[in-house]
Amino acid sequence: MTRLQEETSSCAQCPLRQGARQVAFGEGNPCAKIMIVGEGPGQEEDRLGRPFVGPAGQLLDKILAAGGFGRMEHTYIANIVKCRPPGNRIPTPSERASCLTHLYRQIEIVDPVIILLLGATALQGLVKPEGRISRDRGQWILWENRWVMPTYHPAALLRDVSLKRPVWEDIKLVVARYRELVDANHASQYC
Ligand code: SF4
Repeated sequence: MTRLQEETSSCAQCPLRQGARQVAFGEGNPCAKIMIVGEGPGQEEDRLGRPFVGPAGQLLDKILAAGGFGRMEHTYIANIVKCRPPGNRIPTPSERASCLTHLYRQIEIVDPVIILLLGATALQGLVKPEGRISRDRGQWILWENRWVMPTYHPAALLRDVSLKRPVWEDIKLVVARYRELVDANHASQYC
């Protein structure tokens, strides 16, 4: 993973690199059984070169902790695009396509059993181009021999607290599948 990170840090395959301070490659346990995929770096992620470190990332950490998952212990976190889109706009299909090669290689290295997709861009960019997060969340998708769970992006929860309940329902499904496939004794705070 370190070699891939070094290679990606000098990537300029799409125009997003020009407006970004640095490449926010991804982080976590490269042997994790759960991989989390979001949309792209925001302002704080761009500044620090790490994914999910702003307010949405802090909320994600709490959600994971409630499911008994430590961000750096049980998961590996990356985004569909690794350079910040200007003004936090949604990455274009061509930018997403350029960056997917890096994400595919990350997935190959981590080899997760479960992939948690956060938000519509992650759902559409990785597994279901015609996907709708409000319709597809909470339903398992078998993709490349991995179990994929789409749910709302934590940034959406910060804007609309009514989404917290469906996200929690989705995390409970992830906990159940993790117990089934990885660790029958996995302990979580609430389920
Ligand atoms: S967003 Fe991805 S493809 Fe585009 S320059 Fe950054 S690392 Fe390369």
